[in-house]
Amino acid sequence: MTEKVYARNVEALKSGTVIDHIPAGQGLRILRLFQLAEYRERVTVGLNLPSGHMGSKDLIKVENVVLSEEQANELALFAPRGTVSVIEDFAVVRKQKLAIPDTVEGIFACPNSNCVSHVEPVQSHFSVRVTEHDTKMKCKYCEKVFSKDIVVDVR
Ligand SMILES: [Zn+2]
Repeated sequence: MTEKVYARNVEALKSGTVIDHIPAGQGLRILRLFQLAEYRERVTVGLNLPSGHMGSKDLIKVENVVLSEEQANELALFAPRGTVSVIEDFAVVRKQKLAIPDTVEGIFACPNSNCVSHVEPVQSHFSVRVTEHDTKMKCKYCEKVFSKDIVVDVR
């Protein structure tokens, strides 16, 4: 894909964050889970954009917002090959590294409806373990282990 096509797809960003190479279909979920619209900044979302190596992809631009390292890592659960670029004055000044975190707190609800985390005023808390075929998440409260895909579908 040429730069020209890219520019036509999504408006240029003066400063903020570009999350690119999100697997198609995950863009809106990321927007919602990370509450990117709540910053009340301009958010541009591209869905099902053509991508050379992914076929199609989603892309999110958030003006004047920089993700925390924690947020960037949690993003890795949805977009393992995602890229997060910090933009200043229309130029990329930094790429944030994505690494699947050891623990995830307060983002997902526990899929176990009997879990005490649904009745107690506590933040959800999962420990994350990457296996060869899957990413497993273990709830701190009920100690049940779930596939990542089950956990991220709940909320
Ligand atoms: Zn639980």
